[in-house]
Amino acid sequence: MTEMSPCIRRNRKTRIVATLGPASSSKERIKELFLAGVDVFRLNMSHGEHEEKEALVHTIRAVEREVERPIAILADLQGPKLRIGKFANGPVNLKTGGMFTLDLTDIPGNELRAPLPHKEIFDALEIGTELLLDDGKIRLKVEEIDGESAKCRILVGGPLSDKKGVNVPNAVLPLAALTDKDRKDLTFALKCGADWIALSFVQRAADVAEAKKLVGGKAAVMAKIEKPAAVNSLNEILELADGVMVARGDLGVEEPLENVPGIQKQLIQAARREGKPVVVATQMLESMIKAPVPTRAEVSDVATAVMDGADAVMLSAESAVGDYPIEAVEVMNRVAMRIEGEANYHTHRRDDRASPNATTEDAISAAARQVSDTVDAKAIVTFTTSGATALRAARERPNAPILTLTPRISIARRLAIVWGLHTVKTKDVTAFEEMIGKSKRMALRQELAQRGDRIVVTAGVPFGTPGATNVLHIAWVQGDELKGFEQES
Ligand code: PEP
Repeated sequence: MTEMSPCIRRNRKTRIVATLGPASSSKERIKELFLAGVDVFRLNMSHGEHEEKEALVHTIRAVEREVERPIAILADLQGPKLRIGKFANGPVNLKTGGMFTLDLTDIPGNELRAPLPHKEIFDALEIGTELLLDDGKIRLKVEEIDGESAKCRILVGGPLSDKKGVNVPNAVLPLAALTDKDRKDLTFALKCGADWIALSFVQRAADVAEAKKLVGGKAAVMAKIEKPAAVNSLNEILELADGVMVARGDLGVEEPLENVPGIQKQLIQAARREGKPVVVATQMLESMIKAPVPTRAEVSDVATAVMDGADAVMLSAESAVGDYPIEAVEVMNRVAMRIEGEANYHTHRRDDRASPNATTEDAISAAARQVSDTVDAKAIVTFTTSGATALRAARERPNAPILTLTPRISIARRLAIVWGLHTVKTKDVTAFEEMIGKSKRMALRQELAQRGDRIVVTAGVPFGTPGATNVLHIAWVQGDELKGFEQES
């Protein structure tokens, strides 16, 4: 990840997020996943202990040192997600038409009952309330309730295992943005150096504000959009959050399924307009949990997210517990590369591009895209301390790759989730000529440009003033710029 590294560079702009789990926790596997195309590793705080997660963070950082590329770690907080407890003897099968009881005890469950450790649900339940379990696959209807247990008719049965999610779409539950567990997990994730914190079940902008206050700038904050209330407050949430996730699992339970594709498009468009990264998540290659080849429909789903200009596509169970985690990443990688090569992709990017805001930074970013197309520049080079300039450059969705140079490793890691950025940590520059020289050397080292190529450089002068991007320069690469700079960092 230093300037001297031989480079690993993605030949695609869309990024890949992979969730780690039992199928993907060894160092060899994590490195394989990275080499297959993963840019961001997601730690799902809903499962596992802190010790395991800490070991994963150490492993990812060890891989990062070996591959010499910044890797982002996304810690996904469980949020006020309601889940059943555990079963005594593994998964059970609920028979349609039968009865199943949920109760407040902590006794492990069986075929007839399961613990549901959420008092607020029992307080809100009424006879006739429907409960959805395991992403809505199982449907129960309350027939008897006594405040501590609910006897339910099984309207739609199926297999049920430990800690599956519970949704109560028709009841309003008074839930805080962050549970006690979330607060503990957040402190832990920040201590471990997570780059992104994902917030589950955001309902309003105030939930994001509360989390941002606790995070205190130590990581970026991603709002998972999975509640109808969040869809309705999208603009306010996007103003505060650093990124958003289309969390289609719970979104597809809380909303009618046929609403999800439209919401996905709406979210991608809104996030692109704000210049904030948007991740499309859940069931993208679901069949690859058990099969080495995806369905045609899954390939089409990944392709749609890429075509719509999402920053990243995400794997959940496919990489965490599936039989084919590497193959799933390879499929995403191939689909993204293929779609990005389509003529349609270029038309889409042009047609969906949001106009620049009336700021110097946006004016320079838009001009850099246009100039790079006109002179067929091989890269747009941006210098950034906070990451903001790089985000504005990515918002333009240019043809040329964006080589982002930052002195801060935390920012290099954070930007790994963003469309089209190839970020390198490097010493800061203090003078204009130094900046141009460094841009050319870095473009050469990262194998983005060679002798005779042009690059477009953007920066803020005077240096070191955040948000002061006001320079655009076209530079010729001579090819001999590395002479005398072999030891540069
Ligand atoms: C989702 O619901 O789509 C999601 C990404 O969240 P989780 O995996 O935590 O349920």
